[in-house]
Amino acid sequence: MKQSQLFTKTRKEVPSDEVSKNAQLLIRAGFVHKEMAGVYSLLPLGLRVVNKINAIIREEMNAIGGQEVHMSALQDPDMWKKTDRWEGDAKDIWFKTQLGNGGELGLGFTHEEPITNLMKNHISSYKDLPKSVYQIQTKYRNEVRAKSGVLRGREFLMKDLYSFCKTQEEQDAFYAQAQQAYTNVFARVGLGERTYMTFASGGMFSKYSHEFQTLCDSGEDTIYVHEQKGIAVNKEVLTDEVLNDLGIVRDDLIEKPAVEVGNIFSLGTRFSDALGLSYLDASGVQKSVVMGSYGIGPTRTMGVIAEVYGDDKGLVWPKSVAPFDVHVIVLESKEGADVHAYAEKITTDIEQAGYEVLYDDRPLTAGAKFADADLIGIPMRLVISEKHMHNNTVEMKGRTEADARVVNASEICSLLV
Ligand code: ATP
Ligand code: MG
Repeated sequence: MKQSQLFTKTRKEVPSDEVSKNAQLLIRAGFVHKEMAGVYSLLPLGLRVVNKINAIIREEMNAIGGQEVHMSALQDPDMWKKTDRWEGDAKDIWFKTQLGNGGELGLGFTHEEPITNLMKNHISSYKDLPKSVYQIQTKYRNEVRAKSGVLRGREFLMKDLYSFCKTQEEQDAFYAQAQQAYTNVFARVGLGERTYMTFASGGMFSKYSHEFQTLCDSGEDTIYVHEQKGIAVNKEVLTDEVLNDLGIVRDDLIEKPAVEVGNIFSLGTRFSDALGLSYLDASGVQKSVVMGSYGIGPTRTMGVIAEVYGDDKGLVWPKSVAPFDVHVIVLESKEGADVHAYAEKITTDIEQAGYEVLYDDRPLTAGAKFADADLIGIPMRLVISEKHMHNNTVEMKGRTEADARVVNASEICSLLV
């Protein structure tokens, strides 16, 4: 893509009310647009990053048998009243609205109720189980504190997967597969080294649930990390009993700030009982379906990556989620030589080898282009000047490398791998 065609502009200033590092960088680099507190629109570069994160999540969810759907955000209160989540504790999080004809509806903050209701049409026998269904869909939450940029949106993307099993044993086996799939997702998006699967409070049907927490200075959560064993525990479950269970002692744990990027939860039959999702087992006995739910926040994940890798010059994307693989920057010739034709040829060659290229063909100074490239944070940069054109070379440099190297044009593709 030619950068001269990209409608978004980088900017030096951020909205004065924006205090979070992730949103400051993402706004300045033109990845997101701030509509209001806690509400961000994705611009082309940001959408590319989110799409890459989503593609990785899809592959891992499909690999454990997840089937993708896309459900409505509009929610029927009757369903939520049956599980006691329309009023009470959950009500602060709802965005609710009146219908023109006098009814009421909600904007979904999660989807256990509608998916359970939906599955009643498709599950009736033990032969229909196990199944798992997921979506990557927009959620709405009336978050009180929305000062963490895209880490805590009032509207945000969630991948939510729900599992439907015959027995708790079958559910436990699926849960273990989901744990591995989540570990894979966070490794693949570049957060593996700083993301822990933490022990969290389990709710009604299992002793623990698990959260995936990424170490991050600005994180709102606090986790306790056992570095040697690679185990971590959430603050709310840090008790003697839990430490005993895990065979660790408090003195070996280090307190660290973190952001929850995902979580997995055994739900037992809470939702299937309340909404009537049951099946007939092999001997004709009616039983409740055993469920689990599994969330990941793709937009929060983008924000965490911006937060933990961004430096004083701008964003720094891991290869796997970068908006483009390569940033080609052509420097104008002072003598009027056509360096563009040479740079375009190189761009086409790299694209034909399967790489995505942002080609900076804008008539700006080298300094302005480099500053933008630093801000946008594409992991590999090729700078092309008139001198390079004459020598049939380019200058190659990683986003955070101090030194550049000059390589022959014919070598580029083999060096990009
Ligand atoms: P938190 O404790 O941070 O509020 P949560 O426990 O409410 O998170 P879940 O309801 O489990 O989160 O949602 C599943 C996933 O969705 C989370 O792990 C997170 O990645 C993402 N998520 C939750 N709330 C938000 C939000 N307001 N903005 C962006 N992503 C979110
Ligand atoms: Mg929350």
